[in-house]
Amino acid sequence: MRVAIIGAGVAGLSTAVGLQRAGAHVTVLERSGQLRPGGSGLSIFGNGRAALDALGLTREFDALTSETAGLLLGGMRKPNGAWIKVFPAETVRDVRMIHREELHNLLSSQLEPGVVRLGTTISELTVTGDLRGRTAHGAAFHETFDLIVGADGLRSTLRTLWPKDPGIRYAGYGAWRGVTSHPVDLHGEAGETWGRHQRFGIVPLPDGRVYWFAVDSRPAEATGPGVPETHGAQREVLERFGSWHAPIPELVDATSSAAIQWLPIHELRAPLPSVRYGRAVLVGDAAHAMTPNLGQGGNQALEDSATLAVLLRTLARQDSPRSLDIDAALAEYDRLRRPRTRRIARRSRLIGDAANLQGRGTSMVRDLALQLTPTSALRRQFSIIHDWAPPP
Ligand SMILES: Cc1cc2nc3c(=O)[nH]c(=O)nc-3n(C[C@H](O)[C@H](O)[C@H](O)COP(=O)(O)OP(=O)(O)OC[C@H]3O[C@@H](n4cnc5c(N)ncnc54)[C@H](O)[C@@H]3O)c2cc1C
Repeated sequence: MRVAIIGAGVAGLSTAVGLQRAGAHVTVLERSGQLRPGGSGLSIFGNGRAALDALGLTREFDALTSETAGLLLGGMRKPNGAWIKVFPAETVRDVRMIHREELHNLLSSQLEPGVVRLGTTISELTVTGDLRGRTAHGAAFHETFDLIVGADGLRSTLRTLWPKDPGIRYAGYGAWRGVTSHPVDLHGEAGETWGRHQRFGIVPLPDGRVYWFAVDSRPAEATGPGVPETHGAQREVLERFGSWHAPIPELVDATSSAAIQWLPIHELRAPLPSVRYGRAVLVGDAAHAMTPNLGQGGNQALEDSATLAVLLRTLARQDSPRSLDIDAALAEYDRLRRPRTRRIARRSRLIGDAANLQGRGTSMVRDLALQLTPTSALRRQFSIIHDWAPPP
């Protein structure tokens, strides 16, 4: 089976690993001239790890990560440091942090030489599996595949060719993301701190450095490139979060402006009516871009890849699989993946909306509601997301 995968992010690379292992002839077409993700951390929960296990990568993944993040006290704090809610230990115990670049390196190291074609931009797709675009040298690209996997992210070109693409929407907030340049002692505590229309998250990396994010609500028009100025990022974050509890100011101080990136947060405006279209299927952010409040975008991309690899395992090694069989596998993929990702995206949006409340009164009510949430309910909510297994 000949498969084209558009995009070499977490979704594209993990799909390539899964389908290559199943015996497919895989080509990854990546617009960028190099394989380099943004430079921050990614939390991988039990569900993402189960997907990596299905892709045969647990041993390598575990070697690159540690259980540190799950062993710290986690939950929500107020800007003065008082805990609003401590999460039950077992709900976060299986989380592992990885630097994005390391995950990319791990995935791409599993691919046979020549599988990834850099500098290739795809612009057109037909229902019969024809792909058109431009290569790195500007030449026209036109090839036909048995299956096309759109893994081209939030602003997916493939999805714009879909019937009823809902497009994306700005979530109402953006985030600075940084990684400290040296290890910082967290004194056994991590998690998030919720203020009014602002939020700060602390996540330890395996080498002792700390990945942090600082979320700020802003009107849509204040989110264009260059706003806020990158060179003043450290000062901007300190202006807003410098009076928050320790070690927040220390973490920002330990991160150079050049290592801090501002990113407006977007998500799919509405769920797609189908993630398949003719011989093409979407995975990762292209299929279900969601806000990062549950740290699930990448985990869901891994679930997509593992599911696709299982469903296509008997067809992958065939030279000319029957269209009917491919259609049946894609229909099953759509049935399994769409409701789950829609539910998680919705939950993530609700958390973001609550976390970024503007008013003093409403944020006090929010904190109280969180305090009163029974631990059993929290446990159930986490379990729905983190306890996942690929189809048999
Ligand atoms: C602030 C923040 C924090 C997050 N934290 C977490 C977390 O802790 N845990 C987690 O699981 N998720 C997290 N996420 C979500 C996660 O980052 C994304 O869900 C994930 O990176 C999506 O991967 P992807 O491969 O689908 O898309 P991308 O990483 O966007 O990759 C798409 C690729 O396609 C290429 N491409 C685009 N168009 C074309 C084209 N026409 N032709 C060829 N190539 C093309 C691009 O160059 C790119 O390489 C976070 C997101 C944000 C914004």
